Amino acid sequence: MKFTDNIPPIAGKRHTLLLSCLAFVCAALLLSACDGKKKASSFQENPDMEYRTLGSTGLRVGVIGLGCGGFDDIDSATSRELVTYALDHGMNYMDIYDANPKVRSNIGYGLGDRREEMIIQGHIGCWWNGKSYERTRDVEKCKKGFEDLLTRLHTDYIDIGMMHIFDKVEDWQAVQGSDYLQYVKDLKAQGKIKHIGVSSHNAEVALAIAKSGLVEVIMFSLNPAFDRVVSGKNPWDPASFEEMLPGIDPVRVELYDYCTRHNIAITVMKTFGGGDRLLDAEKSPLKTALTREQCFAYVLAKPCVTVALCSIDNASKVDEYLHYNKATDEEKDYNAALSKPTAQASTGDGGCTYCSHCAPCPAGIDIAKVNKLLDKANLAGEVSAELATEYKALAHHASDCIQCGACEDRCPFNVPVREKMKEAAKVFGY
Ligand code: SF4
Ligand code: SF4
Repeated sequence: MKFTDNIPPIAGKRHTLLLSCLAFVCAALLLSACDGKKKASSFQENPDMEYRTLGSTGLRVGVIGLGCGGFDDIDSATSRELVTYALDHGMNYMDIYDANPKVRSNIGYGLGDRREEMIIQGHIGCWWNGKSYERTRDVEKCKKGFEDLLTRLHTDYIDIGMMHIFDKVEDWQAVQGSDYLQYVKDLKAQGKIKHIGVSSHNAEVALAIAKSGLVEVIMFSLNPAFDRVVSGKNPWDPASFEEMLPGIDPVRVELYDYCTRHNIAITVMKTFGGGDRLLDAEKSPLKTALTREQCFAYVLAKPCVTVALCSIDNASKVDEYLHYNKATDEEKDYNAALSKPTAQASTGDGGCTYCSHCAPCPAGIDIAKVNKLLDKANLAGEVSAELATEYKALAHHASDCIQCGACEDRCPFNVPVREKMKEAAKVFGY
C-alpha cells in the first residue's frame, strides 16, 4: 500500500507539491553548503607543509607565507609562475601592504583564477600618491587605496583587513572614535574584510591593540635578534624575565603571552631580520650567521605565531624556503648558534631593511633604494659600473635631501636616514 492511498486527490497533489518544494529547498541548501565548502576548502593542504589555525579566524594556513616584497621588481609572467608554484607547494597565505599599482596588478595577475585559494591580509591605510607609497589615516585616501587593492586583485573581499602600521601609542590613541576606525569596522560589517588585523613593529602598541579586543591577527616583526631572549629559555616563563639579554623588551614577552592566551594570531615579518641580515654574520646584530631553518624554527616555536612571511621574487627560490618543512631537528636547532660566544646582543638599530615605511620623502627620494645601493657599495668596497648606473637611473638622488627628518620619525628601525643620505651623496658623488 502506498502511503498516499488514504489521502484525497487534492490533498495528495498538495502533498506532492510540498514534497517537491521541500526537495528543492534541500537541494538548494545542499548546493549552497557544497559551494561554501568548496570556497573554504578550495585550497588543498599539501602534506609537505605544516598548517596552523590562524587564531580565532579558524582559517587553516601554511606556516610559511608570502610577503609582497619580492614582487617589487618582477613582471606579471614571473608573478604568475611564483604564485602558482607557491600555491601548488602548500603556501596559502600572503601579505599585501604595498600600494604600488604595478605590484598589486602583478599579484592580481599572479593569482589569476586561484584567488580563493590564497588567504590574503591586505592593508588599510596605505595608498599610492602617484609617486610613492604613503601611510595614511585619511579615510578618503584609505578608501581609494583599499578599493584599488580589490580591483587589482579582481576580488570583492580581503580575508584579513590589516590596519596599517601602528608603531606609536599616540597613533593608536589618535584613531579612537575616528572615521578611520569606523571605516575599518564598516568594511567588516559589509563583508569586504572578513577579519580585522593590525601591523606593528612596536610591542607596547601591539599589546595595547591586542587588549582592545578589536583584532584577530597581528603582523609583527619577530626574530631572534629583535627578541634577545637567552637561548633555550622559555619566554613565557616569568623567571625568564630575569635572564633576558640586555636590551630586550619584556613587553614583547607579554605580547606573545597575551596573544597565545587570547587566540590572537601573529603573522611574522622580518623573519630574517629584514632582508637576509640574520643569515650573514657580518650584517647580523647577533654577530653569528643563522640559517633560514633556524630563523623559521625560532619564530614558529611561539604558539601564537601562525605564519612566517618571507619575500620571494622567483618560483625557483620557493623550494629553498620550503626546505624548512623537511629539515631535521638538528637543522632547525637555533640554540647552539645563539649560544656561541660570538653571539652578542645589540640594539639592532641603525640598519635599513628597505621596507619603505619612511616614505614619502618631500624631495622625492626613494630612500629604501638609495640605502640599498649604498649598502651594496659599502659591502663591495667600491661603486661598480652597475651600481653607478642603477643610482643614476633614480629619479631623485641623495644630494636632493633637504634634511627635514620626516623619514626618521616614520622609520621603525631608527635608521639615521639624514646621515645615510649625506653618506650616499658622498659615495656616489651626488
Ligand atoms: S630607512 Fe627605515 S623605514 Fe626607510 S626603508 Fe630603511 S628601514 Fe625602512
Ligand atoms: S630627511 Fe631627506 S630623505 Fe628624509 S624625508 Fe627629508 S628630504 Fe627625504
